[in-house]
Amino acid sequence: MSVEGESRLLTDIITELRAAGCVFAEDEAELLLRTAGTRAELAELTRRRVDGLPLEVVLGWAEFLGDRFVVEPGVFVPRRRSEFLAEQAISLARPGAVVVELCCGSAAIVAAVARAVERIEPHACDIDPNCVRCARRNLTDLGGTVHRGDLYEPLPGELRGRVELLLANAPYVPTDEIASMPPEAREHEPPVALDGGTDGLDVHRAVAAEAPEWLSPGGRLLLETSGRQAERSAAICAEYGLDTRVARCEETDATVVVAT
Ligand code: GLN
Repeated sequence: MSVEGESRLLTDIITELRAAGCVFAEDEAELLLRTAGTRAELAELTRRRVDGLPLEVVLGWAEFLGDRFVVEPGVFVPRRRSEFLAEQAISLARPGAVVVELCCGSAAIVAAVARAVERIEPHACDIDPNCVRCARRNLTDLGGTVHRGDLYEPLPGELRGRVELLLANAPYVPTDEIASMPPEAREHEPPVALDGGTDGLDVHRAVAAEAPEWLSPGGRLLLETSGRQAERSAAICAEYGLDTRVARCEETDATVVVAT
């Protein structure tokens, strides 16, 4: 395509994306243009974005901690906010450590840890078959294993008492707040990735309840939560005999409960 043809095409896409309410229309249009192989493909990608699919799902990848990870339809898009949890895990992971991500979605968190720390043994679990497939694409080449099932249930029994780091960005949105989330998340991400029950903490209770059984001596549980739920998430971990503290990142408003 001529440079002139390309810049006209770009202008058209920007106009379409703006009309659909995309805030970063210029950047998104560039990404779509670079990702599409043909004009027909570009038109299709633009249509899917205009229909409200998250940009990362349209592109098929998300950037997380400076690397690209595969994202597929129906899989929770890794958030910038969760990079804080991954960074905390990276700073704590020792070579050789067993690192498990529960409710893994794309498994970008444990995959980012596996890319940063040598020779860890990564595992990831998710109940959703789409997530399991997507997570395998991100984790298998890094030597990781993805298990399908609810929370700890699919983990091999031999990992009991051996998990040095247990990571989860589990659903923590209270059920009655889902309706007021942005339509991108509400309509195109799996509700099971967001809905944490009446007070949003049902999954945190279930994760904390079994954590002591799976953690190695000195092992840690790192749970993403929201600023306003942090004290309650921490209290839940404490109820199960874990020593807890809350870590916050002001820049991205990320909050992580660290329990040992
Ligand atoms: N509000 C969070 C988000 O969309 C919810 C994440 C979660 O429930 N784990 O990033």
